[in-house]
Amino acid sequence: MRVEQISPFLLLHHFGPMPVEPGADPLDLGPHPHRGFEPVTFLYSGGIRHKDSRGNEGILQGGDVQWMTAGRGIIHSERASKAFLESGGVMEGIQLWVNLPKQHKMAQPGYQDIKTDRIPVLEEDEGRVQLKVVAGAYKGLKGPAKTFTPIIALQARLQPGGAVDIELPEHFNALAYILSGTVKLNGNFSYGGEHLLHFRNDGEGFGLQAEAESQVLILAGEPIDEPLASWGPYVMNTQTEIMEAMRDYQMGKMGVYVD
Ligand code: MN
Repeated sequence: MRVEQISPFLLLHHFGPMPVEPGADPLDLGPHPHRGFEPVTFLYSGGIRHKDSRGNEGILQGGDVQWMTAGRGIIHSERASKAFLESGGVMEGIQLWVNLPKQHKMAQPGYQDIKTDRIPVLEEDEGRVQLKVVAGAYKGLKGPAKTFTPIIALQARLQPGGAVDIELPEHFNALAYILSGTVKLNGNFSYGGEHLLHFRNDGEGFGLQAEAESQVLILAGEPIDEPLASWGPYVMNTQTEIMEAMRDYQMGKMGVYVD
């Protein structure tokens, strides 16, 4: 499932869930650059090893979130972790591209490797709904991810019959991506897995009611009202800046990746 541009969200890619034999790497993304935005990985199951041109290396496990700032440019690889390659298992996650405003597109690259135990969990409807607050302030909880523009990111898990009203600032764009299960929206229509619900920024939230055990990723943020130019792994404001990104990558200004 892919979606383009519900500002500040640019692209959402749901990979898996896929059963994987030991020794097989369902990702195997070799070295590639990024500039001008933040690639975020929500790993639901499995194990990923990332490595980059600045000498950083890290492991994500099921439940972990990596909030990466590509900023002025970085080259990295994303592959199955050693432990996952040995054991096999189920790989499932979401990669989300979050835009950066013009004034932060050339920020220093960086990572926030957020382990699942650092993400606060809000329980609603007598525990039938759990909301992991990854980013932003939500009902008194504060997500660990730092963002350049105001964003709320919630990972919801709903038991059958569990209901929740999601309250969001009125001027935020919002979307809900259903990974699995079935949820009824605002007491009206039901939607199954791999559906994306997109809300206009004229309400103050929405209601979800689970008809089966469901997982939903809820994203909301202040729109970035700037021109957008994107090509492949670069997201900038103008075509000239895209050309500069291509040139800088070729000249080695985003670093050199050594495997
Ligand atoms: Mn990448």
